[in-house]
Amino acid sequence: MTGFGVVVAISADPYHRVAVAYGRERSVDIAEAFVEGVLATTGTTAEIIRRSDLEWLAYFDETDDAAVELLYQPWSYGSHAVDVDGSVHFLEVAMGIVRAADFPATVTDEEIVSAADAALSRALVDGLSAVIANPSLAQSLRREISMANALITADDDDFPVYYQPIVRLSDDVTVGWESLLRWTTAGSVRSPDAFMPVAEATSLIIPIGRRAIRAVFADLAGRIGRTEGDEAFVSINLSAKQLWDESLPAYFSELGAEYGVEPSRVWIEVSEIDVIRPVGAAARTLFALHDLGCTICVDDLGSGFSALRYVRDLPVEVLKVDRTLVTPLPDSTADRAVVDAICTMAKATGLRVVAEGIETQDELDEVNKLCFDLGQGYLLGRPAAAAALFGPAR
Ligand code: C2E
Ligand code: CA
Ligand code: CA
Repeated sequence: MTGFGVVVAISADPYHRVAVAYGRERSVDIAEAFVEGVLATTGTTAEIIRRSDLEWLAYFDETDDAAVELLYQPWSYGSHAVDVDGSVHFLEVAMGIVRAADFPATVTDEEIVSAADAALSRALVDGLSAVIANPSLAQSLRREISMANALITADDDDFPVYYQPIVRLSDDVTVGWESLLRWTTAGSVRSPDAFMPVAEATSLIIPIGRRAIRAVFADLAGRIGRTEGDEAFVSINLSAKQLWDESLPAYFSELGAEYGVEPSRVWIEVSEIDVIRPVGAAARTLFALHDLGCTICVDDLGSGFSALRYVRDLPVEVLKVDRTLVTPLPDSTADRAVVDAICTMAKATGLRVVAEGIETQDELDEVNKLCFDLGQGYLLGRPAAAAALFGPAR
């Protein structure tokens, strides 16, 4: 049971912009002026506790929504003009707000503060000015942290790379493989959906991704052989965060030299959403990987709305059409028209096109009527561990 109606965790200048602009001491003065000003505008008697130079906890008595409304609205953009000694300064503020009424009656003061911190953390991660806590927020944050702990202490062996065949549709020959990361933990094999959000949010995707890339080069050298006439390629998924790492191309060339593998046997898959604005370090990384000889693919085509501009701006050679566009092909003329248009455009610009997520013969038949080059999906082969597909490593 808590004696408070509303508790707010406040972080002033959370991105340190004001400290950089005016100096650290001045930013603390501005933040103090802001907290005093807020008290005046809310017109309630709140108990305000300072937690550090730029952090406060505010306790309000109200048991109704009035305090939240008062707090939430004037701050809803998170940017404020604060008057200090007659001059006006800009200040950003982030807040985690807890309404005790949203929580079970048994909630303790400690749990309320923890929920306010969780909401503040969520606000900061998502770049929002305020988040109102719900009872599951702190719990889900704790789960994320414990998963991050498990990820960071896992061994190399705990992240096996699975492979799914990519099939040439004209003659059913497997010409390459998509590498798909797995995490074996507590005796079960987990898919990226289960751990990728945490790996991304904590940047653990960088070391985990590098281990996966090394495993792919080792498998290319050791056990992924030739197909008819050609050497099979492996495609590697890279997230936006991984592309921001400009030392990645050098890592690829080192691995190529170490394992005696031509980088031209590596395809790079980048999700459409991540290539919509091809600027800065991520674009430079893509160009550098392309210069090494890697084939750049745009993945999950249909997940973003990008008007395919990146085809002009980036060295893209392959488009992978998302399962959400492939699944409806047998039943929907409208979807067929859209996919047909994408394929025709791709062919006209010299791109190769892959149909993803083919699960049924009907879908494959429709895919074969359009100008797709390659296909992938459970019908053609499910993802499996390297040892199961290619035998032991040499
Ligand atoms: P994605 O790149 O779109 O990979 C295809 C996903 O679809 C895989 O899920 C695959 O198992 C699944 N799939 C393939 N064929 C079918 C089908 O016929 N039906 C259905 N329902 N699903 C099919 P998975 O392995 O769970 O991977 C999920 C996502 O995680 C991948 O989506 C990719 O974006 C990401 N991912 C996987 N491995 C890596 C990695 O090493 N690095 C990074 N950054 N992301 C990865
Ligand atoms: Ca992919
Ligand atoms: Ca995909």
